[in-house]
Amino acid sequence: MEYEHAVKRVQRLRELIDEYSRMYYEQDAPLVEDDEFDSLTKELRDIEEAYPELVTPDSYTQKVQGEVSTLFATVVHEVPLESLQDVFSLEELREFDRRVRESVNFPVYVVEPKIDGLSIALEYINGRFVRGATRGNGQIGEDVSHNLKTIKSIPEKLNSSLPRIIVRGEVYMPQESFAALVTQQDLNGEKTFKNPRNAAAGSLRQKDAEVTRGRNLDLFVFNLQFIEGTTIGSHSESLEFMKELGFPIIPFYKVVKSIDEVIDEVERIGDIRANLPFDIDGAVVKVNDFTQRRKLGSTSKFPKWASAFKYPPEEKQTTLIDIEINVGRTGVLTPTGIFEPVTLAGTTVSRATLHNQDFIREKGLCQGDKVILRKAGDIIPEVVRVIEHQQGAVPYEMPDFCPSCESKVIREEGEAALRCQNPECPAQRIRNIIHFASRDAMDIEGLGPAVVEQLVSNNLIKNAYELYSIEAESLSKIERMGKKSAENLINAINKSKENDLYRVIYALGIRHIGQKAAKLLADRFGDMESIMNASEEKIGAIDGFGGIMAESAVRFFSLPQFRHFIDKLCEAGVNMRKKGERIDARFSGMTFVLTGTLPTLKRDEAAELIEKYGGNTASSVSKKTSLVLAGEDAGSKLTKAQQLGIRIIDQEEFMKMLN
Ligand code: NAD
Repeated sequence: MEYEHAVKRVQRLRELIDEYSRMYYEQDAPLVEDDEFDSLTKELRDIEEAYPELVTPDSYTQKVQGEVSTLFATVVHEVPLESLQDVFSLEELREFDRRVRESVNFPVYVVEPKIDGLSIALEYINGRFVRGATRGNGQIGEDVSHNLKTIKSIPEKLNSSLPRIIVRGEVYMPQESFAALVTQQDLNGEKTFKNPRNAAAGSLRQKDAEVTRGRNLDLFVFNLQFIEGTTIGSHSESLEFMKELGFPIIPFYKVVKSIDEVIDEVERIGDIRANLPFDIDGAVVKVNDFTQRRKLGSTSKFPKWASAFKYPPEEKQTTLIDIEINVGRTGVLTPTGIFEPVTLAGTTVSRATLHNQDFIREKGLCQGDKVILRKAGDIIPEVVRVIEHQQGAVPYEMPDFCPSCESKVIREEGEAALRCQNPECPAQRIRNIIHFASRDAMDIEGLGPAVVEQLVSNNLIKNAYELYSIEAESLSKIERMGKKSAENLINAINKSKENDLYRVIYALGIRHIGQKAAKLLADRFGDMESIMNASEEKIGAIDGFGGIMAESAVRFFSLPQFRHFIDKLCEAGVNMRKKGERIDARFSGMTFVLTGTLPTLKRDEAAELIEKYGGNTASSVSKKTSLVLAGEDAGSKLTKAQQLGIRIIDQEEFMKMLN
């Protein structure tokens, strides 16, 4: 490559790498797959090797990547958390061995799986956990101690009261937890995490430790960073020592004496990789002896005594037989590719989402195409590219009409999805009822998708609220439903009337309102009526609520069909109050306007009291105002209230109402 061309290419590569790294490390939302990112960094490394004068201290090749968010307190790492030198071929591993042997004699290696999660350091003083931090930029990390305390496998207390120890490990999300989380996010209409690594990072870097707790993270410890009170001579010794202390150490590590044995082990880990319950993206080869490690030293980014072999993602060729269109709960049409079955990363794959029309166009997909499939992050199957079209193939176009109700579908501005807008659409109804009855919502046992479909297709119900008027006899129309099962189902439906408020809110299927947001709404307002009347501002002010969520909730409750739906649930006797504490909602349904200066109460204190007892406050007087609470120097609001004949009270009267 010409020098001038190299300069330009390096600049472009750095721009791309910076942008991708920012999304990956700061937002936990990668824009490209790791292997694509790795090929860019490898290209940069190769050019820098050819033209060393192009190396800059802030190049990706020279410093540990990662940012420190202002959400957390910072921790300066006493021992830096270095990165690893990646290699992509077995020849490069042999090269690594040759370099090691130039500096030390008879190196012994340890080969370990490279866990795909995020790196953390844990510090213990006198055997007690004191602090845990993310890698950050390697020198400074984020203090995530509270969140780490929710991970069960991290010991609070060690089996020895050593004066001080710092260990390094990888927090990861087991595949099972990841699958459950993505299903849930999908159901809630939320953005899903791309892979377990991003899910682990996104779950650990949370302001609210309760969110982390719900995500079932786990940990493997793979390095001793610092120790006081004893000396240890090698990595394998340190792993066994940390195991005795109570840490979950890196599984199936192996001590080997030659590069051939290293390669055998790397290949063996590659073979079992698909069957592990957690993601690995490579194998790490480390010099075992600590004295030899010190002699080999580090670059500004990674230790010279270790090398990470990265496995390529498994890809398979198959045929796109058909494209199926499903209509979701909110009317979104999702295309799913149906493929000739192939085995990928240990499971048989015959379906993969094709996301939307943009994705289909971008890939140029036609029915009958030969395509390459892989599992993104080794979990979710996806189409990588088209290899060959059939003769006369035409690019696939999404339908203009809903496959369920045949009404015209539309694409809203700024959205990639096509939506069926028909509230009567049977497919949407079915999906909504399935959601309503699901475990995290109303938890109606025995009311799975198959039964719901039959209830709707036999015209027994159209809406979820009609569940409450079904009679046991009519259930005889449902296939394979005996008398006993019918009774059980009716009992389960009736039992769900007693559910706590948050379940009902979640069951309504409001866009962007997941189970956690439903709980926050229930906690903040206490009953459905108050939630329905709350302003966007009030809802948006709840800690943990974003603007989009508040807007979506207010929009939902303003629509007559949903108000009607809630009324019907009320009529059926479904509980609409938060359980646990007795709610005094004496101001329920009332809107107050505050004006002037009250003798002792501050305005926000008065507003808080009104809301505590179920009332609302508004900033201007209208016919809808129930009461005006006026103090000294009240201005135009008071006059307007007088004109409209609205009752005006002072602080004394207000306090009487409270007592
Ligand atoms: P790295 O993740 O490849 O390797 C270093 C990390 O490996 C360490 O921080 C450590 O926590 C971890 N690790 C897991 N098991 C280990 C073990 N047994 N021993 C030692 N370390 C172990 O390096 P990096 O510099 O942190 O990040 C580069 C990685 O991030 C690459 O895989 C790259 O593909 C990915 N990345 C992807 C994008 C994207 O857009 N897709 C962007 C940036 C980075």
